[in-house]
Amino acid sequence: MVKKAQKLREPLENRKGTLYFDGVSTRKLTEKFDTPLYVISESRIRENYKRLHEALTCNYEKVRLYYAAKANSNLSVLRILETEGAHLDAVSPGEVFMALKSGFTPERILFTGTSVRTDELKFLAGSNVTVNVDSLSQLDRLLKIAVPNILSVRVNPEIGAGHHSHCITAGKQSKFGLWEKEVLKAYATAKKAGVTRFGIHMHVGSGVLDVEPFVLALQKLLSIAKKVHDKSKIGFEFVNMGGGLGVPYKPEDKELDLTLFSEEVLSLFKSRVDEYNLGKPFFCVEPGRYVVYDASILLTAVNTMKKTPFKKFVGVDAGFNTLIRPTMYGSYHQVLVANKLDSPEKDTYDVVGPICESGDVLAKDRRLPKIQEGDLLAVLNAGAYGFAMSSQYNARPRAAEVLVKKGKYTLVREREELDDLISGQRIAK
Ligand SMILES: *Cc1c(COP(=O)(O)O)cnc(C)c1O
Repeated sequence: MVKKAQKLREPLENRKGTLYFDGVSTRKLTEKFDTPLYVISESRIRENYKRLHEALTCNYEKVRLYYAAKANSNLSVLRILETEGAHLDAVSPGEVFMALKSGFTPERILFTGTSVRTDELKFLAGSNVTVNVDSLSQLDRLLKIAVPNILSVRVNPEIGAGHHSHCITAGKQSKFGLWEKEVLKAYATAKKAGVTRFGIHMHVGSGVLDVEPFVLALQKLLSIAKKVHDKSKIGFEFVNMGGGLGVPYKPEDKELDLTLFSEEVLSLFKSRVDEYNLGKPFFCVEPGRYVVYDASILLTAVNTMKKTPFKKFVGVDAGFNTLIRPTMYGSYHQVLVANKLDSPEKDTYDVVGPICESGDVLAKDRRLPKIQEGDLLAVLNAGAYGFAMSSQYNARPRAAEVLVKKGKYTLVREREELDDLISGQRIAK
């Protein structure tokens, strides 16, 4: 029995067996720019942003989306989101720097760091971005540098969630955020120091497909906001419920129900804000993954076919230096043979990279068409935490990135060269 070729989701497209992405041939791109190659679809980023924005604004008019830059901080990606009207979540001074370079004004940038150095706080104060403090220590050190106009506090809502233990960022084991008592203290301290405008923030984790953890955590966040409001007599310009919106990676994964998410979260938000007399703050979310994950594929060429008594290995030129998610989180990424989309699945393969570690497996036990050396594989949904987490491990220069849009393409990051491996190094005498 031959399974019918699966249906591809936009901006993926099958043209006579060859994979196209946002209207551009993957074969053409790799002929021009070689592999491994990240291909980013501008159209898809815009669609993802708009879909989420619309789903939220249809239930509440004051909504802000802070794009979490750490998911994919390519300058062109940031620029696209800037033109969509996004705000930006930065977790390091480097991300603030990149956001400013790409055109975000400081007012649209929220810095949420952890274990932040004092010199970094000076940089942030000088940049005029809004700081979301993660500890009383950070707050005290910030207030000594300069009293900001506006300040936010990251709350630990005591409920965490995520697709992997490394990605749960609230709850008892978490290093992030302040617990209720310290939250109250932080706002009182900031008010006393002269801060006049406030926000409040949480982030429960990453890759959350159920609405319930968001609702429970938001309930807690708002109940803390009420206590702060009652005790310190301050209002909030924004309530930020963080990111973590989950996405489907496996074909059988469910999707986060956006309509339900928006309805449940915003009806709770509106009723509590009314009940607690919190005025009319902006409702903010901070999606990273949701905006970019399916807007990028990783193209990698097959160089080695290898059979052992137990396994058939497909050796490709992208490893966990290029895409670490499978190795780091056991994540699943769908793989297509980009030049054989019409061929039936014939065999079971492990797709492995060039890194000298056994963990260097991009895809395990996959049913794929018969693969030969020279074939081109597309690793799907590689846009979030893909290039951003890549490294030069094993002294391999990092991949190039191409932006595609309705049949047009632009190289937006050059492939690194051997010289990039030694940049900044010197041999001790
Ligand atoms: C990582 C992060 C996000 C984004 O998480 P996603 O799962 O990519 O949506 C949002 N806010 C903060 C503070 C983060 O650290």
